Amino acid sequence: MNFVFLGPPGAGKGTLAKEVAAAYRIPHISTGDIFRAAVKEGIPLGLKVKSILDSGALVGDDVTIALVQKRLVQPDTRAGFILDGFPRTIPQAEALAGIARIDAAVNFEIADRDVVKRLSGRRVCKACGFNHHAEFSPSKKDGVCDKCGGELFIREDDKADAITHRLEVYRTQTAPLIDFYRGKNLLMDIDARPKAEAILMVFKAKFKQ
Ligand code: ADP
Ligand code: ZN
Repeated sequence: MNFVFLGPPGAGKGTLAKEVAAAYRIPHISTGDIFRAAVKEGIPLGLKVKSILDSGALVGDDVTIALVQKRLVQPDTRAGFILDGFPRTIPQAEALAGIARIDAAVNFEIADRDVVKRLSGRRVCKACGFNHHAEFSPSKKDGVCDKCGGELFIREDDKADAITHRLEVYRTQTAPLIDFYRGKNLLMDIDARPKAEAILMVFKAKFKQ
């Protein structure tokens, strides 16, 4: 199955995508992760997008579409894939329709105030990428990842101003995709408030392997 995961930042798309990818044995493709990796490696793409990512704005459609197009021709996507954080604009969704068949767009529903709480408390491991939360899932030792002992940090775009900006960008540019996919009968709404394990059960019941 070919999935698109939609929803505001902080809805938990990435967390669920990792679990679905493991359970269904399909790759999890996160454009945000790809951009962040490019920044970390200091390759030309990373130099180009760093300030955009830090501010919470969107990378241009051309760059993003080209990146996804390249990824979706890799053989590991033949059995299916999860696109997490793509498409994020109508032009991206239209381009995607020309690149691959989409079986379902899963729409993670969550209120803005919950998004702010989740993102402002998020603490990411520098070494393994695991996410802790200062309030909801704190690490045993302050500033240190439970999984690997790596150092925890706050993403630049999880700071208050950038969160506000990301929510605004989501509302104006990405939320219209809900109607786009509903119009194609591909939308499945999912309540993003429960814990990931509970959401995974709902997901598995809906999409039999
Ligand atoms: P979030 O935690 O907001 O869901 P992601 O990890 O998906 O964030 O993405 C982080 C950043 O990467 C975005 O704020 C944006 O700058 C960039 N980005 C990711 N996906 C896209 C996309 N499809 N189009 C444009 N920019 C993107
Ligand atoms: Zn770690």
